[in-house]
Amino acid sequence: MQAAELNAEIISVGTEILLGEITDTNSVFLARTLRDMGVNVYFMTSVGDNERRIAEVIRIALSRAQIVIMCGGLGPTVDDMTRQGVAVATNRELIFHQSLLDSIAQRFTSLRVHMTENNRRQAYVPDGAIIIENPVGTAPGFAVEQGEQVVICLPGVPREMKYLMNESVIPYLRKRYGITTQIIKARNFKTAGIGESMLDELLGSDLLQSSNPTIGLAAHSGVIDIRITAKADTTEQADAMIAEFEAAVRERAGEYIFGSDGDTIDSALMEALKSRHARISVIEAGIQSIVGERFKDIDENLVRSVVFYPDINAAVTSLGVDSEGSVRQIAERLAAAAADHRSADTVGLAVVSLTATNDDHADADEVSAAAVVYKGERRSRAYGFGGKTESARSWTGTWAMAQAWRMLKD
Ligand code: ATP
Ligand code: MG
Repeated sequence: MQAAELNAEIISVGTEILLGEITDTNSVFLARTLRDMGVNVYFMTSVGDNERRIAEVIRIALSRAQIVIMCGGLGPTVDDMTRQGVAVATNRELIFHQSLLDSIAQRFTSLRVHMTENNRRQAYVPDGAIIIENPVGTAPGFAVEQGEQVVICLPGVPREMKYLMNESVIPYLRKRYGITTQIIKARNFKTAGIGESMLDELLGSDLLQSSNPTIGLAAHSGVIDIRITAKADTTEQADAMIAEFEAAVRERAGEYIFGSDGDTIDSALMEALKSRHARISVIEAGIQSIVGERFKDIDENLVRSVVFYPDINAAVTSLGVDSEGSVRQIAERLAAAAADHRSADTVGLAVVSLTATNDDHADADEVSAAAVVYKGERRSRAYGFGGKTESARSWTGTWAMAQAWRMLKD
């Protein structure tokens, strides 16, 4: 049977749920887990601790679903009715298992807790049921197979239910119903101030050539995403695989990582300025890549000055720097002038462009440039596109902020 044709029904048991005293988070977990496996769920029911009504919802579920998963009501007290309900609905006797009682007793001994007589109840399961051992609690789960169908019963305590679902039920369902779907999860770790080939080398071929999880790099001008993608049977397994790779990635390239998934270099730079008690001074000329939009919401204590000049000549004249040389050299001089505010805690950042579009300077391959100066160290690079082009606007600013973040971190 294909997973897509399979359908499962979820039944949570407990009067507390019907009284609105607890939220049925177990059903949510079960629904997500089944969805991740590609198994359809058409109905979810909650029923109180009442044998007749529990039997009734199981019968209804068995009239329309191949897989019925129940949770709750497996404990030792008289109001725990799930095992009786299943026995009635599937026309089976409840059978006592000495071995089950022994393992329950053993669990009590290891916890140094006295086992009360009512725990005997948990050693009864419907005739022919498959026992699902519960090493994280006392109430074992069980599964009753009826032809192609199955009724699976799990304890109500969320931690135990999840454990048994992940460790026993998912593998069981995969095998019995030939379910091969796997879930795919990915996380991005964001680096700044390192080139792609250098990052490649740091990570090493053992990580980069792994087939599961896989690691991929995506460069966005100064910011490179390290994307870890894992394929697994369950979300938990995928998360664990990703965490293991993350640890290796951090060990090798951790100093370049500024965040993950939704984090931006803009906010990472703000944080770095704050923790270093540093400030930033920005000059842009002929290109508006940072000053206009990205510095709108910045904490003003972190900014010494932010100035935009319509063209490079205006900036050069105003700051009194030498206008000779390449656009990259001019950017460096402007960044140094921005940083030079007597105190050494200022990051100077300059982004400049000689022209609006690259067509104006078709013969020059360096028409825009970004530069960062901090405590005497300078980093700069030039671009072939003009200041009004979209690439220049996003690339130059991102690159400069990435370098500034990295220089503050050293
Ligand atoms: P126990 O051996 O602990 O009695 P049980 O299988 O009988 O296990 P319940 O008595 O139904 O389980 O529930 C135990 C506790 O687990 C509840 O008091 C509640 O805190 C939690 N719980 C039960 N069902 C759910 C549910 N559907 N969603 C979230 N939490 C639940
Ligand atoms: Mg109980």
